[in-house]
Amino acid sequence: MPVLGDDFQEGGDAPFDVLSVIGTVMALFAIGVIMARGSNAHAGDTVVGGGNSGGLADELVKRGEACANCGKQGSDTVRLKYCTACRLVKYCGLDCQRAHRKQHKKACKQRAAELKDEQLYSQGHERAEGDFCPICTLPIPLPIGEHCIFKSCCMKRICNGCDLAAEERSMFDCPFCRTPYPGNEANALAMIQTRVEKKDPTAINYLGKKYFFGDLGLQKDMGKVIELWTEAVELGSIEALYNLGIVYDTGNGVKQDKAKAAEFYKKAAMQGHVESRNNLGCSEVEKGNNNRGVRHLLISAQMGYKDSVEAIKRMFMDGNATKAQYAEALKGYQDAVEEMKSHDRDEAKTLLEWKD
Ligand SMILES: [Zn+2]
Ligand SMILES: [Zn+2]
Ligand SMILES: [Zn+2]
Ligand SMILES: [Zn+2]
Repeated sequence: MPVLGDDFQEGGDAPFDVLSVIGTVMALFAIGVIMARGSNAHAGDTVVGGGNSGGLADELVKRGEACANCGKQGSDTVRLKYCTACRLVKYCGLDCQRAHRKQHKKACKQRAAELKDEQLYSQGHERAEGDFCPICTLPIPLPIGEHCIFKSCCMKRICNGCDLAAEERSMFDCPFCRTPYPGNEANALAMIQTRVEKKDPTAINYLGKKYFFGDLGLQKDMGKVIELWTEAVELGSIEALYNLGIVYDTGNGVKQDKAKAAEFYKKAAMQGHVESRNNLGCSEVEKGNNNRGVRHLLISAQMGYKDSVEAIKRMFMDGNATKAQYAEALKGYQDAVEEMKSHDRDEAKTLLEWKD
């Protein structure tokens, strides 16, 4: 009886009768594996061999039709489950997954990182919902703080254009919800707190900011700030992710932790937070990862963030980005800016420039 070895299966140049060879190989797989795996394989299970048996067995494992460790094929009784980290291979059970771990670890880690990257770069190319003015429905130009007014009555950002247009119509209540303005700090704080109690993530993030700056008569309190922003994040606030990113990135009030900052920025960027995307790009460039940096910066530039275009321009000048990348960033930026323009916004801009 010939010994089942790699040479026998792979050897394409030997003048065998192909069909009979395949038949023999399949039979030998079964016998060999049942003998080798003993306790793992039971009579009646379809086993085609894992590990080093190659060929058909590898093919079945690759197609997710056999356990990567013991080679058992999936059936009504054998339910194969993906390795959730990489989704490259399947196992018939936890024991097989554990037994295969050492062998699988490297490929698993690599693929898991690739999957994470795919998500990181493909998600969050659209501005988040809170970035749109609820009155004119256009995305607010960036940096957002300079182009809108935050209303603590309804926790909405109203673009400068709509705010000015309301003023011109002598409307001095909130142009979105018509609530009269609070008038003093105590009333403003009460307004925010009412919404915080109702678990409004935007309000909780906003209150955190007030503690951070010590506004509205509040004592600066970093413990409180982190607590509020963490709660806001849990309730879905993208801004709070960004704020946490900033404080850990700069070490402002907390122990500096760049890795932690990057995790917050990533989560925010994947939900369309442009400044977070820009900051991720800049920190990759700082670390010398120019390719990763440009990929991020290109996204934020195309979403209308000027700083990202400037950063790519500098990289291009230093030979760290291509001319095509710079041109793409510039074109995307200009298109995004065009889409954010309106008559009211132009007027507001002129007026604000006059004031300066
Ligand atoms: Zn198995
Ligand atoms: Zn895996
Ligand atoms: Zn507007
Ligand atoms: Zn309002």
